[in-house]
Amino acid sequence: MRYLASQENAVETIQAAVRLGINHIETARGYGRSEEYLGAALTGGLGVERSRLHITTKISPTMDGDSMGRYIDESLQRLQLDYIDCLAIHGLNTFEHLDLVLAKNGCLQAVGKALEDKRIHHLGFSSHGSQELIQAAITTDLFEFVSLHYYYFFQRHAPIIHLASTKDMGIFIISPADKGGKLYQPSPELEKLTQPFQPLELTYRFLLSDQRITTLSLGASNPAELIRPLQMAEQTQELSPQEIAILQKLAQHQKQVLGTEQCSQCYKCLPCPENIHIPEVLRLRNLAVAYHMTDYGQYRYGMFENAGHWFPGMKANRCTECGECLPRCPENLNIPKLLADTHNRLQGRTGRRLWQSI
Ligand code: SF4
Ligand code: SF4
Repeated sequence: MRYLASQENAVETIQAAVRLGINHIETARGYGRSEEYLGAALTGGLGVERSRLHITTKISPTMDGDSMGRYIDESLQRLQLDYIDCLAIHGLNTFEHLDLVLAKNGCLQAVGKALEDKRIHHLGFSSHGSQELIQAAITTDLFEFVSLHYYYFFQRHAPIIHLASTKDMGIFIISPADKGGKLYQPSPELEKLTQPFQPLELTYRFLLSDQRITTLSLGASNPAELIRPLQMAEQTQELSPQEIAILQKLAQHQKQVLGTEQCSQCYKCLPCPENIHIPEVLRLRNLAVAYHMTDYGQYRYGMFENAGHWFPGMKANRCTECGECLPRCPENLNIPKLLADTHNRLQGRTGRRLWQSI
């Protein structure tokens, strides 16, 4: 998604990635010219056999099977491949999307045909949706892998990791460095708290040490951005006592700094009649207050009202103080007050996705 500056840059980044040991390259129909550039890199020769590479592309749910069939062939053409290892339904973000996928004569029919004639080898889905939706999609048993958000700073989807692993699914984590906390540029406070480790290192280790997780994505926009994360790629051993102690210290610090204003992320306050995603707003507040992750908070908060089903929910200043959420909060939080405070802290920027979904 991020190597799109030019075809030359994309090819150089992919060549460097494979040279450095990466064997799984993920793109999407919706990422501008990404598939085409990957196709150019693949035909230029990457110095490894095709069978040693795993190529994934993603296609958004379509209204009908014919469109999906056509899109699969277009992806194959752009990638200049005769088969794609993994096809993900891209952005299975709402129950309507799931219905579309499951509908009779819907897009799964075309996917089934492509699986049968081996144009694609495995089917999965990516989702930015709710836990309930992702669980519902997994329990259809139609998918072999799932791509989702799950990080040290966002552990809401821990039950999904468990469910997917019990079904022996591939588990692909979306953008641990960036979406997981903008950790290439950590706040000085966070850097201080994770000493002697870097925040990025520690959060990679949180994921790498989890044997249920099969793939971490690394969204390099140029060859240089591959170097630092790959220095950690082999560190899949269990967390050391020192790493565990620092992760515990981080949690303790958050508790101490936030005191009676800490949102425990139980999600019991939903639904809000103004469609405010209260737990996500307050997660960003937790991180901004406890670890000074204000930059990350502004980046994510700016996506409310700007990214559709990719990041649903209204901004916190839409709260009418109706009070409906209050009796549902086991922490007795003054939710309207905390929402107003979050809006003041994080309203700085308006975010959009890097690419436009279809
Ligand atoms: S008080 Fe505000 S956040 Fe709570 S339910 Fe009403 S509008 Fe939503
Ligand atoms: S109910 Fe309270 S503690 Fe739970 S997610 Fe909502 S605001 Fe946070």
